[in-house]
Amino acid sequence: MTGAPVPAPRETEAHIPAGTEMVTVTIDGTTKQFPKGTILVEACNSLGADVPFFCYHPGLSSPAVCRQCLVDVKGQPKPVPSCYTPVADKMEVTTASPRVLDIRRQMLEFTLLNHPIDCPICDKAGECTLQKHYFDWDAKYARNDGIKVHKAKKVDLGKHIVLDQERCILCTRCIRVCDEVAKEPELTMAMRGDHEVLTTAPGKRLDNPYSLNTVDVCPVGALTSKDFRFTRRVWELQSTPSVCPGCATGCNIEVHSASQEIQRLVPRENPYVNQHWMCDEGRFTYRRVSENRLGVPLVGGAPVEWDRALEQAARLVRATLDQAPARIGVVFSAQSTNEDLYALARMTWESLGATRAYVAGFDQGWSDNILVSADKNPNTAGALAIGAGRLKSLMDLSNDLKAGALSTLLIVGDAGVLGAAGTAALPLAKLESLIVLAWKRGPLTDAAQVALPMADWAEVDGTITNRQGLVQRLRAAVPPAGDALPGWEIISLLAHRLGLPLLFSSGTEGRAPAEATTARAVFLEARQKMAFMKNADWGRTSLPVQLRFANSRG
Ligand code: SF4
Ligand code: SF4
Repeated sequence: MTGAPVPAPRETEAHIPAGTEMVTVTIDGTTKQFPKGTILVEACNSLGADVPFFCYHPGLSSPAVCRQCLVDVKGQPKPVPSCYTPVADKMEVTTASPRVLDIRRQMLEFTLLNHPIDCPICDKAGECTLQKHYFDWDAKYARNDGIKVHKAKKVDLGKHIVLDQERCILCTRCIRVCDEVAKEPELTMAMRGDHEVLTTAPGKRLDNPYSLNTVDVCPVGALTSKDFRFTRRVWELQSTPSVCPGCATGCNIEVHSASQEIQRLVPRENPYVNQHWMCDEGRFTYRRVSENRLGVPLVGGAPVEWDRALEQAARLVRATLDQAPARIGVVFSAQSTNEDLYALARMTWESLGATRAYVAGFDQGWSDNILVSADKNPNTAGALAIGAGRLKSLMDLSNDLKAGALSTLLIVGDAGVLGAAGTAALPLAKLESLIVLAWKRGPLTDAAQVALPMADWAEVDGTITNRQGLVQRLRAAVPPAGDALPGWEIISLLAHRLGLPLLFSSGTEGRAPAEATTARAVFLEARQKMAFMKNADWGRTSLPVQLRFANSRG
């Protein structure tokens, strides 16, 4: 598949670098300057012209096959495809002349000629670009009452994806995603005319690590995700902007939820991190949020109220603190938010005076030169910066345990090696007490005297720091599992029970710190103290929006 080069990230006015060559363009009577090379369809739509398209995608090359985006350019005998045409100085453009509107309608009618129009059972209904353009630009009864061309309805293309060939409008976006993003040419067109179909290339399956991006870019319901299809109508979904926790890249995502459960993750555009894409592995990190969660505090393995669990945890810590503070160990997690890590750092070094601190998380894994990082933890950079050279490895922890150097161990975050291997990973027998703030139930929570349920990444507001050092915002998309609380809040409550100086100033004498403190307050304090967070932005309050042509898909 060939086409024009992939366009550079779109420049907003605020981000046009100084010295950029500008051209003057008049669109529907409005004259404005644009950076030279801007694609015409982007220029038109930035002025509110609403030029429709199917095959154009800002992250892919432009083949100009769908002919929806034709506009009139003064001096040109025929309308031009605006997705393929760069702006030029003194260009005069009309986006809705009678001729252009007529062609737009005719192309829509042609696209729908053999389309099955099975919207009532189609997963894309409600966010389908064909539906939207039809209602926006045509909205007339079909003139074709003959027999339509039939094609295969359920083609198994690969591990994650099913194709309905009748719904495909032959825009080639999915082919270009494989060619240009995943660098795996796995899809192609076969046959000709009204028998043309999308299919896999000879001897290939659609199995590349970025295959589900084809579902995102498909403007219709031809490509569907096996994981999501037939689970929810899209208008039942709420969309919350967040960040993938699957690795240190920190791809920007939308969390789509319904009935307080995550239904799917889709990429959100960030030109500096992931452009428009995310890997398949990252899509399935949502499953961790509901699998095998610890939902209630446990003391000696039995469910108890928060009060009792905190009291017991404080009693165990206090016993060692009074005798030998140096025998307290604290484990930080590279899966935690900056706010949890900051609260824990303050408690560890300012309140407890503990000297033995360690960092845990997932082991290194596969990586590529596209998006995926070998570091499978989303906040290693934050943990190391907040630890400021004081965090030792799990190997050091194992050696300290074997040497009997620790009496009490406080583990904050059980994801990764610790959670999977639990007691097998660490010789815990010589400990007098083990306290775990955990996301999941497992061998570690079973071995702990006190286990406290902690809210997971999609249940909290907070920030994480990616491999580039960018501090990015997580937003709570679903309520915490059971009685789980955010990590920073549990740490504050525990400090309060220990009678230690308040971690965060509540401004309310005599109340527990967490009662009057928010994740944002912890963030603001951390930003003041931590150099790596000094440019971080908490962002606006963003309530989940109901999904209906409201996200980045299609
Ligand atoms: S399956 Fe979807 S993305 Fe691929 S060519 Fe057909 S309509 Fe376009
Ligand atoms: S590359 Fe990493 S951060 Fe991006 S989607 Fe995949 S797992 Fe998530």
